[in-house]
Amino acid sequence: MNDIDQPTFPSSRRDFLKTSALVGVAASFGVAPRVMGASTPKARPRVFAGPIAISSRNGQQTVLKAIELIGAGADALDAVVAGVNLVEEDPEDTSVGYGGLPNALGVVQLDAAVMHGPTCRAGSVGCIEGIKYPSKVAKLVLERTDHVNLVGKGAQDFAVMHGFPIENLLTEKARLEWVNWRENMSTQDDYLPKHKPESTGIGEIAAPIKRHWGTIHCSAIDLAGNISCVTTTSGMAFKVPGRIGDSPIIGAGLYCDNTVGAAGSTGRGEANIENLASFLIVERMRAGDSPEAACLFACQRIADHTKLARLLDAKGRPNFNVQFYALNIKGEVGGAEILGGNGTFAAATPEGGRLVELAYLYKA
Ligand code: ASP
Repeated sequence: MNDIDQPTFPSSRRDFLKTSALVGVAASFGVAPRVMGASTPKARPRVFAGPIAISSRNGQQTVLKAIELIGAGADALDAVVAGVNLVEEDPEDTSVGYGGLPNALGVVQLDAAVMHGPTCRAGSVGCIEGIKYPSKVAKLVLERTDHVNLVGKGAQDFAVMHGFPIENLLTEKARLEWVNWRENMSTQDDYLPKHKPESTGIGEIAAPIKRHWGTIHCSAIDLAGNISCVTTTSGMAFKVPGRIGDSPIIGAGLYCDNTVGAAGSTGRGEANIENLASFLIVERMRAGDSPEAACLFACQRIADHTKLARLLDAKGRPNFNVQFYALNIKGEVGGAEILGGNGTFAAATPEGGRLVELAYLYKA
């Protein structure tokens, strides 16, 4: 144990600074203190020495927990998983774990994956039902099997074998939201009629009621300089039963390389899987991009590869969003989204937690 035994991190969301007050903070995290568009010159990165954790915006407590554990000597993988467990068990977050919005049949199916930098190993579970902490099961897949992905009943059986109880994850709040969706279906689901690439007005993107997305990703560097990451989600709300998103796909929902950095995502998983964006971001950082520039590169790649009319707006831009979060071995952090303007992500060091602006490709 060391002097970080008594953490001094702020412990409530209120303690996070608003993005508008981030000039000094952003500089200390090595990112530009302003929103960058695709054509904006790259920020000059500054090196941050020491442990750091980043997550999607819903992980403000997550990054603080991860940094607290890292300060007490934890491996980054243990720290990020413990951090996201706080969100997995939170019934108020309807995008992750317990309380997550269900699939089209009202069944909560969860996806999660972990990656451990020092051993280059990964583990994931997809479409797991009744298990409150899918990220812990993903970590067990990494540690206690010779595999990477377990799905459905097999993943649940594996969790039960390791002592996890099967629980009802559908809260009353999520059930009522599902009933409302079901009673107002039509174009608001993911089943598509026969259509052509130029067809518009079909699919959930065209729906008058926008469906709720959400996920949590967390990456961290520990005291030994090792990097690990986790992504966990209930996936796209009201998805086709059996659908797996990007979160449990290694290289899509997350990726890390101990010598380079880590990346993860939230948003429309289909676009991310088709572009394997987290792997792409880590490779761009390996080639010298800052985390933010690498995230913007992945946003641009998705925009370039979006060809179907139903997924494009009147200006030919994607009509959906994807967010990326990245850190590199030097402790620089950055994030970007396709459609932005006021997006943020959470970051924490032993000095405390902050919200950092996401760069963006197009103004939302
Ligand atoms: N990426 C998640 C998925 O596609 C959803 C989200 O992050 O909103 O399952």
